[in-house]
Amino acid sequence: MRTQEHVKLSAAAALIAFPWLKTDVWIPFAASILIDVDHYLWHAITHRTLSLRAAVRYFTQANPPRRPEARLLHHPLVLGSLLFLAIRLRSRLLALILAGFLFHVSLDVIHVRQMSRLMQILNEQAQGQCQECGEHVDKLQLHTLHVTRNLFDRYNPRHFVMLCPPCHERAHSGHGESGPYGSRRFQLPMV
Ligand SMILES: [Zn+2]
Ligand SMILES: [Zn+2]
Repeated sequence: MRTQEHVKLSAAAALIAFPWLKTDVWIPFAASILIDVDHYLWHAITHRTLSLRAAVRYFTQANPPRRPEARLLHHPLVLGSLLFLAIRLRSRLLALILAGFLFHVSLDVIHVRQMSRLMQILNEQAQGQCQECGEHVDKLQLHTLHVTRNLFDRYNPRHFVMLCPPCHERAHSGHGESGPYGSRRFQLPMV
């Protein structure tokens, strides 16, 4: 799930939790956004660059590898340790941070589920044929054409296409040729 979507949903959750948490509500809100700093840190260390732009480019490439090392703060072991510490130290601060982390991870889980369900539907429709160049390949990749603001329409199959790896690569580099999914539509930031 994209950062903007996380921000939006976390803000909505913070609004709901406000009557109970009062001014402390910013703690889980910030935690639910900042958890993704692990992606950046992993990229900074492995690619030896502090550039945020390079990290964003890496994670928004066509079919970015989902490396568990890049998702350290999302790991159940880290979340479990945090829970242990929060109980042990009776720390409200740690508990609120954990709540933010868990909210974020739950959204990620829902997102991954929805995407794999979509992939199944679209794979059946495409029958191994790239929807851009018509080439038949073993494994098509799911490409997002449009991220709608309407959450209920977010995973509608019409916002996605199945592409062969070269076409998917081209779509993300913004050099799409003509064709139904040509360069103009690929100007959007993609996942
Ligand atoms: Zn293709
Ligand atoms: Zn894509």
